[in-house]
Amino acid sequence: MIEIDNVSVTYAGEVHALREVSLTLRDGEFTVLLGHSGAGKSTLLRALNYLQPPTAGQIRFAGTEIGAGPGLRLHRRRTAMIFQLHQLIARQSALQNVLLGRIGYYSTWRSLIPFPRADVDLALTCLDRVGLLDKAESRCDALSGGERQRVGIARALCQKPETVLADEPVASLDPVASRRVLDILRGVCSEDGLTAVVSLHQVEFAREFGERIIGLQGGRVVFDGPPADLTDADLARIYPSTEPTKRTAVDAPETTSQRRPSHGMEACS
Ligand code: ADP
Repeated sequence: MIEIDNVSVTYAGEVHALREVSLTLRDGEFTVLLGHSGAGKSTLLRALNYLQPPTAGQIRFAGTEIGAGPGLRLHRRRTAMIFQLHQLIARQSALQNVLLGRIGYYSTWRSLIPFPRADVDLALTCLDRVGLLDKAESRCDALSGGERQRVGIARALCQKPETVLADEPVASLDPVASRRVLDILRGVCSEDGLTAVVSLHQVEFAREFGERIIGLQGGRVVFDGPPADLTDADLARIYPSTEPTKRTAVDAPETTSQRRPSHGMEACS
């Protein structure tokens, strides 16, 4: 269980990206985050992985508060991230990229030498699960956008996580590739009993794939429930048409991908 307890994130002391958010995410649940650009979805996902420490409040995984202490490495290992722009290494093969999911299991020096056979076998199994075993040796920059995101899912699985955090994983894909990626993501999370938190732009995909939808607006939770309960009035609260008069978390002209750090990898989008 993930407990988000009164969490606020304020950037540079003035941009209130999250405002006193309290949520409990149940084990094995597939949750979709909806909201305008700038609503706080990415900040919430990053806070769950402690890439963005909360300004106030607490986040607990299975009762343990996450923080900058010695448990952070283990927390990050248990919490796999999937990014909109995949964050794959373009010139490396699909298999090499998936193997990066194992790096959290080794100290720095260990990860510099070839991976053990067991890791390679696991990575191949993960590629097989996303339907890409035949592309294991293909360079990532030779894959389609949907295939790259499936490599991103395989890399996350290879990490053997308990939680998957996906930040707009289909934002750069066409509808057919998007549905395939979400179908695979939902399927593998369900098979492995993983807790998933996935931000999406498309309401229809949220209804189709989410077990639970959380709507954010201006850094606050304005809807929380199953897709069947999401009404037009709720959507109007999540996506208000009125322009904010003051600077708030919805003043976000640039996309999250423009701000997102590259993690030292050449984006392969
Ligand atoms: P979403 O993912 O819903 O688009 P974000 O969490 O990326 O929303 O952004 C929420 C708010 O926080 C926006 O106003 C955005 O401009 C701001 N923000 C996000 N990241 C930063 C940052 N690193 N520094 C300053 N402001 C940021």
